[in-house]
Amino acid sequence: MDIYNVKQQQLAGRIEEKPSLLKWRDWRWQIKNSIRNIDTFEKILGIQFAEEERASLKETLEKFPLSVTPYYLSLINVNDYVNDPVFKQSFPNSQELIHSAHDMADPLHEDKDSPVSGITHRYPDRVLFHISNICSMYCRHCTRKRKVGDKDSIPHREQILEGIDYIRKTPAVRDVLLSGGDPFMLSDNYLDWILGELRTIEHVEVIRVGTRMPVVLPYRITENLVKILKKHQPLWINTHFNHPREITASAREALAMLADAGFPLGNQTVLLAGVNDCPRIMRRLMHDLVKNRVRPYYLYQCDLSEGLSHFRTPISKGIEIMESLIGHTSGFAIPTFVVDAPGGGGKIPIMPNYIISWGTNKVILRNYEGVITSYQEPDSYEPVFCDRNCTDCDLQLSLEEAPEYQAVGIEKLLSDYDETITLIPRDNERFDRRDD
Ligand SMILES: *Cc1c(COP(=O)(O)O)cnc(C)c1O
Repeated sequence: MDIYNVKQQQLAGRIEEKPSLLKWRDWRWQIKNSIRNIDTFEKILGIQFAEEERASLKETLEKFPLSVTPYYLSLINVNDYVNDPVFKQSFPNSQELIHSAHDMADPLHEDKDSPVSGITHRYPDRVLFHISNICSMYCRHCTRKRKVGDKDSIPHREQILEGIDYIRKTPAVRDVLLSGGDPFMLSDNYLDWILGELRTIEHVEVIRVGTRMPVVLPYRITENLVKILKKHQPLWINTHFNHPREITASAREALAMLADAGFPLGNQTVLLAGVNDCPRIMRRLMHDLVKNRVRPYYLYQCDLSEGLSHFRTPISKGIEIMESLIGHTSGFAIPTFVVDAPGGGGKIPIMPNYIISWGTNKVILRNYEGVITSYQEPDSYEPVFCDRNCTDCDLQLSLEEAPEYQAVGIEKLLSDYDETITLIPRDNERFDRRDD
C-alpha cells in the first residue's frame, strides 16, 4: 500500500509529463502541485461532478478555498469517493455554506485571548504560538476555517520576535505550543531559528509542535528536519490522524523517523460525522496509532466554527465512543474526549459516568462491563491541613524547584488556605441584589 503505488504513478502522470518517484517524494514538489481547483481535482482523480453540483462547489470555494496534496488525494478510493473519509476531509461540500444560528467565526475566542499577534494565552502556564498561516492541505473541518487562505504567508522575523518577546517576559509560560497553519510549512532553517530563540528562554521547559504533515504530506519529515528538531529537545510532536486509512506506509515511515529520534508523539483526532463517528473505526485508529508509537491524546468534539455543521455529531456520540474504549482496550490507546468551550473556556474533558452513588465511607462504582461494585473508604483519614506554608508540612516539596502559583477555579474551592466558598458567575441577579 502506498510508497508510490500504481495509482500514485498514474496521478503523477496526470500532473506532469515526466513524473518520478524522486519528485513524488519531494515535499516541495507536492506543495507546488497541490490541487487547488475543481477542474484539476476531477482531471487528476478521473471523476466528474454533475453540472449543478459544480456551480455550488465553486460558490463554496469562493468562501473556503481548496488545497490538497497529490499524496493525500491519492488515498481517495475513486470507486466510492462520495463516502470516502479522505475525500470528505479534503473536498468542499456545499453544506459548508449553511450558516446556522449558533455558528461562530472564532468560537474559541482565540483572537480575543491574544496579547500580541500570533499568541493565544488561555491557560496559566502555556501558550499557543501561531508561526505559520499556511497548510499543505486545507482540512474541510478546520476550526480556524475563518483564516484559511486568508493571507497565505509565513510571518516575518519581526512578527515572530514579538511573540517570542511576549513569552520571554512572561515567566509563567513553561510550555509553548507551536501551531498555525502548519509549523512544518516553514523551511528547516527558519524553524531552527525559532526553536533556537525559544530555547534561549530559561522558563520555557517544553516546546510542542502541532502538525498534520505525517498525515497529509509525510515526505515533509526528512532526515534534515529531524536532525534540526533534535537539537531542540525536549520537543513533543502532536499530529492529527482521523481515520485508519490515513496510516499508510509513507505515514508509518514518517512516524518511525520521529519516534526513532526520540520525540514523544501524540495524536489529536476530531470526531467527524461521516468520517469516524463509529466505535469500530475509532478503535482501529487508536490501535494503529499505538502500533506506530503514537499516543492518542485528544478526541475533539467538532467546534462551532462556521461551515462545519455537516461534520458535527451530538456530544453523546463521543461519550458512546469513549464507553467502547475505556476498559475494552489498553489505557494508553485511549484519548481524552474534550469539548473546546465556546467563548474561550478551554478544553473540557467529558467521560461516561462511572460513579453511581455515594454513601458515608462508601462509593458505588460501575465498570465497563456494567458490573456494579463498592469501594469502602477508610474509616479514618487524617487530612493534612494545608495553609500553603510548605515549611511546616511533613510532605516533601523543595520550594526552590517548585515556584508558587495562584490557585485557580475549583482548585480554590477545594483548598484549605483560600476562604472562597463559591464561584459566582458575573451578572448573577441574586448576588447583584445583595448590598455587600
Ligand atoms: C489546546 C490549547 C492549549 C494546550 O492545551 P493542553 O490541554 O495543554 O494540550 C493551549 N492553548 C490553547 C489556546 C489551546 O487551545
